[in-house]
Amino acid sequence: MIETINISKTYRMGEELVQALKSISIIVNKGEYVAFMGPSGSGKSTLMNIIGCLDSPTTGTYVLNGKDVSDMTENELAEVRNKEIGFVFQTFNLLPRASCLDNVALPLIYAGYNKSDRTEMAFQALKNVGLADRVGHKPNELSGGQRQRVAIARALVNNPSIILADEPTGNLDSKTSHGIMELFHELHQKGNTIIMVTHEDDIAHYAHRVVRLRDGLVESDTLNPNPTRGKALVPVE
Ligand code: ADP
Ligand code: MG
Repeated sequence: MIETINISKTYRMGEELVQALKSISIIVNKGEYVAFMGPSGSGKSTLMNIIGCLDSPTTGTYVLNGKDVSDMTENELAEVRNKEIGFVFQTFNLLPRASCLDNVALPLIYAGYNKSDRTEMAFQALKNVGLADRVGHKPNELSGGQRQRVAIARALVNNPSIILADEPTGNLDSKTSHGIMELFHELHQKGNTIIMVTHEDDIAHYAHRVVRLRDGLVESDTLNPNPTRGKALVPVE
């Protein structure tokens, strides 16, 4: 499903060139649950952005669902992104003035759904993350964990094949973080492909495979024989 072949990424900072990725070759199959780890600056976010079609590699090839996306134009990338990828960020990236329902429905506007479909799909997505009773709330009326659930509902509302989460628990306390991981566990059980970046070993331990980056290279890539499982499932109402 995801295959990067010798991809590199170089950023230009004025006169200086920063080589964020040197040569990354990695395959992630449908239904895998992978954690990217590694020190700050090792290239995790850069790699996630390329996998998520937010950015293109400087050299190398990226094949997503059988299509070479490395040389696509910005418009073509946006189309692939809207269809295939759901993003979850550390900072939630919700619109503060919009209700939960409107935040979750936003990607559906770009996808061309009519208003009643958008409302129905957004409601279902919020229900699936246990927030059916918060549809009219604004983000600042929710806890951090609830905000991240809204962001996850928004990432999933379009039924993407791949969920990419860059430090999804980075702004959450430990108990709330594990609640979010239980939700990810459930999504993985349902067949979603998940890649997340995390610093925390106990969070990475939910994933079935851990890839460590260092200085723009893959340092190790190991299967987790005994991943943590979610216990209490998300209340669905
Ligand atoms: P990580 O997510 O592992 O902390 P990043 O992928 O964000 O690492 O960054 C990798 C390297 O690329 C770092 O040296 C960082 O400073 C640099 N970098 C990341 N984004 C940019 C950018 N937009 N412009 C210039 N340099 C960048
Ligand atoms: Mg990062």
